[in-house]
Amino acid sequence: MSFSALGLRAELLLAVGEQGYTEPTPIQAQAIPAVLAGRDLMGGAQTGTGKTAGFTLPILQKLAEQAGGPQGRTPVRALILVPTRELAAQVQASVFTYGKHLPKIRSLSVYGGVGFHPQVQALKRGIDILVATPGRLLDHLSQRTVDLSKVQVLVLDEADRMLDMGFIPDIRKILAHLPKQRQNLLFSATFSDEIKKLADGFMHDPLLVEVARRNATAELISQRVCPVDREKKKDLLAHLITSGDWKQVLVFTRTKHGANNLAEKLVKSGIRADAIHGNKSQPARTRALAEFKAGKIKVLVATDIAARGLDIDELPHVVNFELPHVANDYVHRIGRTGRAGSTGEAVSLVCVDELGLLRDIERLIKREIKKEIVPGFEVDPRIRAEPIVQGKRGASSQRRPSNAPHKAAGNRGQNAPRQPAARAGGRNSRDSGRRAFSY
Ligand code: AMP
Repeated sequence: MSFSALGLRAELLLAVGEQGYTEPTPIQAQAIPAVLAGRDLMGGAQTGTGKTAGFTLPILQKLAEQAGGPQGRTPVRALILVPTRELAAQVQASVFTYGKHLPKIRSLSVYGGVGFHPQVQALKRGIDILVATPGRLLDHLSQRTVDLSKVQVLVLDEADRMLDMGFIPDIRKILAHLPKQRQNLLFSATFSDEIKKLADGFMHDPLLVEVARRNATAELISQRVCPVDREKKKDLLAHLITSGDWKQVLVFTRTKHGANNLAEKLVKSGIRADAIHGNKSQPARTRALAEFKAGKIKVLVATDIAARGLDIDELPHVVNFELPHVANDYVHRIGRTGRAGSTGEAVSLVCVDELGLLRDIERLIKREIKKEIVPGFEVDPRIRAEPIVQGKRGASSQRRPSNAPHKAAGNRGQNAPRQPAARAGGRNSRDSGRRAFSY
């Protein structure tokens, strides 16, 4: 199967060729013709499957085909909603890359945490494809600095993540500003009942395209669990990086505080590392990501929300320094590696406190992850499990932020922590407190 067989025009084929893509990924092969044909589509695909090009290429083609093209102030014709700032910037970069031989298409990303006014100016000049996070887009709508009445195609990207982050009410408000007649595309790594309910409300006879088994982890990712005592996780991580001569590794922690601490500790051990999370300014995050991509820093430590949508090609290693409270996040995290055809490795450092979380993950992905004890880091069976949520100390402890903003309370932060910790952590604390350490 070649890209030209999908019916894409020469300018797009040229751009795709320049990216070095030789053939469409499965999601692209299925989504591109369907979107070109005008169908609504529900794409079951996680990051790394090539889904962005899967919706961007046909949208570019459809808009480019319209007579006249933009003249002066153009209304937004395609709207792409994404959960995070990083993803907004990356999707717009893809729109730009794939559309660069179509001179008439203008795109913009709008998201919070950066100036409002420059976005207003850019919107005034006329935008064909707008990529936006929900909160900032609602701000523009309330200021009447954006007109969505001419939108022909709507994309909800990473819909499951939007749901997790509490964006669904915002999305419903945004939908009210769109014309009823439009094409709808929804992409999600998983299709929970809530996502299906949302989709049922506005999609028309959508084509369902799924490239990964529901809730399954990508085949190309080799996964292992390294059992370790909670106090030894940092040393084990440093050991893995150094002994394996790892050049580029994305490490997940549960909290921003944990991300900072870990990055500092790694730097002290002589490993070039930085942390990326919502408390950092957008320029600081962009810089950290650029340095990571360029190989100037080896280790990027991130929280789940900050890492959403980070587009890092062929990432060889992902480490779960702490297991996520929500098992689905595990699938998202390890989706950072083994991307679009390359293999990758996901290592989870799991201490006795996290056995309940591990069990949830294995149940979700329907397989057991192999356990490998690293010599010198054997677990001490006398150490008992401690609750994760209320705990103050140790590598896996997390203090629930007292000022945790909640979307329902009107906070529009793009990094508002989600609230599942109480549920998952509570259950985990109860379980793991009773059980002795055993894998
Ligand atoms: P996505 O799932 O959209 O985040 O894309 C994951 C990565 O795959 C991106 O870095 C793309 O540049 C890359 N990619 C997208 N389509 C292809 C393709 N047809 N062949 C090879 N790589 C691709």
